[in-house]
Amino acid sequence: MVFENPVVKELVEKTRVLWAIGHALGLMSWDTETYMPKEGSMERGIASGELSVLRQKILLSPEIQSLLEKAEKQEDLNDYERGVIRVLKRATRIAKALPPKLVYELSKTSQEAVVVWREARQKNDYGMFKPYLEKIVKLNREAADYLGYEEHPYDALLDLYEEGLKASDMERVFSTIEPGIRRVLEKVLSSGAYPSEHELEKVEYSRDAMEKVNLEILKMFEFPLGTRSRIDVSAHPFTQHMGIKDVRVTTRYEGVDFKRTMYSVIHEYGHALYELQIDERLIATPLAGGVSLGVHESQSRFWENIVGRSMSFVKTVYPILVKYLDFVRKYSVEDIYMYFNTVKPSLIRVGADEVTYNLHIVLRFKLEKDMITGDIRVDELPEIWSDEMDRLLGIRPKNYSEGVLQDIHWSMCMIGYFPSYTLGNVLSTQIRHHILNDIPDFYQKIENREFHVIREYLREKIHKWGSTYEPKELIRRAFGETVEPKYFIEYLEYKYLGFKI
Ligand code: MG
Repeated sequence: MVFENPVVKELVEKTRVLWAIGHALGLMSWDTETYMPKEGSMERGIASGELSVLRQKILLSPEIQSLLEKAEKQEDLNDYERGVIRVLKRATRIAKALPPKLVYELSKTSQEAVVVWREARQKNDYGMFKPYLEKIVKLNREAADYLGYEEHPYDALLDLYEEGLKASDMERVFSTIEPGIRRVLEKVLSSGAYPSEHELEKVEYSRDAMEKVNLEILKMFEFPLGTRSRIDVSAHPFTQHMGIKDVRVTTRYEGVDFKRTMYSVIHEYGHALYELQIDERLIATPLAGGVSLGVHESQSRFWENIVGRSMSFVKTVYPILVKYLDFVRKYSVEDIYMYFNTVKPSLIRVGADEVTYNLHIVLRFKLEKDMITGDIRVDELPEIWSDEMDRLLGIRPKNYSEGVLQDIHWSMCMIGYFPSYTLGNVLSTQIRHHILNDIPDFYQKIENREFHVIREYLREKIHKWGSTYEPKELIRRAFGETVEPKYFIEYLEYKYLGFKI
């Protein structure tokens, strides 16, 4: 048994309703992004807001709080039991800090703003989204003040997505990887070792054919489609877990440049696998979920980049591509590898290559940090965005849709989320370093389609624990060290300046 202490057992039972509300909210959020009729957004907003407040009320009820206090005083607890207490204490701290009215406003605003954002992006109309973003920044600033912080109000928001993360931590990570990225980028662009574009980027595909490619890749990974998962279409690909046995992914089909939808599927597969491989004994408990966004993103990036963009994977996926996409036949494996690994400063974060991607996060990190303090106003955001893009990548967006309106996050009231992407990227390369030590024929396993070996490794090191350990502790236990940005640059240098892997 994972939970033996009677007080903790009771706590887990009494908090199951919180898990149930999370389950319902997850399903509602998935529906909002996929099949909800447009005019359902207002009522969906009210319902989600009410459920969020209810969840907060139940967590803070005297019954649960006194049980939690009692549980804290228990001795000889195992790691799972301590994990339950840690997760609930953290949720309590956040719930106590945020007034119910603010929680309700955040939830309601995001439900409405997502729908407006989608239309604004389509119409390239920043003015339409602007009042929502102003409100979202204001609500987030209020939240930061209620939550409290030592160094910077942005720290309070970062912590919501990554336990204990501070702006100063990210500045340290960026100061390590930024010079490395610039060095690699400059050399790759001047040497031409990797192309900056490929003619396949302009080739149109049939959606039917591409759906089959995506399904066959998921089948190759033994993804439990139909039994514990499904794949749908949404404006912005995402993964939503309702539980350990119901984890859903989405993708989008743009009709051109097939690697985009393919890699979004592999990316979301990585997220989904994390949830699917959590120890089933943790079902419907406070530990039944990935521990943080950074660790989550490390899993999606590991599959997308470390596995998916390797030469070994290209060899593996090539027969699938040739089977469904006629136009692929005239390209060799080496050609396809180059198409999958073009390096070019670009405007859209989700389409960015491994080398330039984190520069997009540098930009968002700076803008979010300054919006929260009021140093940047929402109405001057598009211009500052363009200037920063120019400074970092030497290019400027021609419209709002490929600039400030490209991401869904702000419309969902999420400010402080983006840095977890960089943490994830760094961590994915750290996992690569360790998996190569532990499984030296890692790349051969990919060529042999022995993905279960990789899945098992990730399950044992990371997935099965759910939220048992806080992120830093999880990484320390798995790899005997903390998050280490040097592996990211080592990987880039090895792949882009040394050997094509
Ligand atoms: Mg992701």
